[in-house]
Amino acid sequence: MSVFENIEKRLHEIGKTINLSEKDIELLLSHKRIKKALLNVNGKQYESWRILHNEALGPGKGGIRYHPDVSEDEVKSLSFWMSLKNSLAGLPYGGAKGGVKINPKEETKETLEKISREYVKAFHEYLGQDIDIPAPDVYTNSEIMGWMLDEYEKINGKHEPGMITGKPIELGGCALRGDATAKGGFIVLKELFKKTGIREPRIAIQGFGNAGLNLAKMLYDDKQKIIAVSDSSGGVYNSNGLDIEKAAEFKESSGAITGYEGKKITNMELLELDADILVLAALENQVNSENADKVKAKYILEIANGPVSADADKILHKKNVVVVPDILANSGGVVVSYFEWCQNKTGNILDENYLKEKLNIIMTSAFERVYELWEKNKEQDMRGAAYIIAIKRILSAEKSRGNIGK
Ligand code: NAD
Repeated sequence: MSVFENIEKRLHEIGKTINLSEKDIELLLSHKRIKKALLNVNGKQYESWRILHNEALGPGKGGIRYHPDVSEDEVKSLSFWMSLKNSLAGLPYGGAKGGVKINPKEETKETLEKISREYVKAFHEYLGQDIDIPAPDVYTNSEIMGWMLDEYEKINGKHEPGMITGKPIELGGCALRGDATAKGGFIVLKELFKKTGIREPRIAIQGFGNAGLNLAKMLYDDKQKIIAVSDSSGGVYNSNGLDIEKAAEFKESSGAITGYEGKKITNMELLELDADILVLAALENQVNSENADKVKAKYILEIANGPVSADADKILHKKNVVVVPDILANSGGVVVSYFEWCQNKTGNILDENYLKEKLNIIMTSAFERVYELWEKNKEQDMRGAAYIIAIKRILSAEKSRGNIGK
């Protein structure tokens, strides 16, 4: 089943529980704008997309991914999740996403810059601070956002830093953005510890990049025990807990986590470890109908987008494994992107401690709302509760616009 088919399946099920009409479901499953382009660079062509899912709550917002597996199905799915994530966090944004089908590890920096500029040339008329605002995602970073901003401003002949977030600080970026997704995930996890009373959990983390590595560092600083981590090269395990500072240094110097001290394990083995908490911070569909039954963790924190498939959700729910859903757990990044955008639009630079506190308030409040609704009806999983809150806000905006409910 494709990723978007998973979304359709889930949405129809949720539709039944909250009596959504066919028109509501149709609207939520349709995309406002699907744009594709072939980027020509150095005699090669790269497929690329910018997709706007919904804009009832505000301009589109969502990252740009550079990955060899990027497809239209994936970008459509990611843009849908962005709509829900932005809605759940109470942000004034719709959902969007972009991608380029490329393996950035095989390209030079010069080629990546050319591709990034070509991307903006192809899609600039659909981007803008009040239209659709990109940000970094898998294998894109602040440097790429800087090139994209520069190209956009050259085309339009004026400054508009709010057209993209996750930029370098000197171009209007926000100091908190670098590890904001991890910070948000950390806040959510600590709230979960408080609610469930879980003590000294053994934590396994799949994905050791921006989100996974920073979260691992925060948990390590908080004296939590991380028994395994992995990246695309594989993973390492130590039942007594890994030294994450050293593991991060090792990853930085060698480019991969495998080879670091501890038992070598595969990515699949990491998912099946005897851990209390499994953090998924890599890619989609990692826990699926084939391996969900083998998951031993009691809680899963979805830092990646869509790492648990719809079928796996059912299996995990039956086993009483609680999945803290992506649209809640990984929303720290977009919340700080929102702070950056506000600063860019107003020219007002806010105090970092104030923003940290604000991130804390937004994340805690989203967690509370989801947890409260979920506790009322544990027949549904936590994702169901999060989807219901997010969907209701989008539909309410569509109704206020007169687009539905006549
Ligand atoms: P990243 O490129 O910095 O890191 C990705 C990590 O996943 C790398 O360590 C990579 O080696 C690893 N990986 C790739 N394939 C793997 C596999 N098959 N098994 C195990 N590990 C694998 O990306 P990131 O920014 O950390 O994003 C990770 C996930 O979090 C993505 O799903 C992304 O959409 C999501 N996310 C990121 C942010 C953010 O601000 N960085 C925000 C929201 C959601």
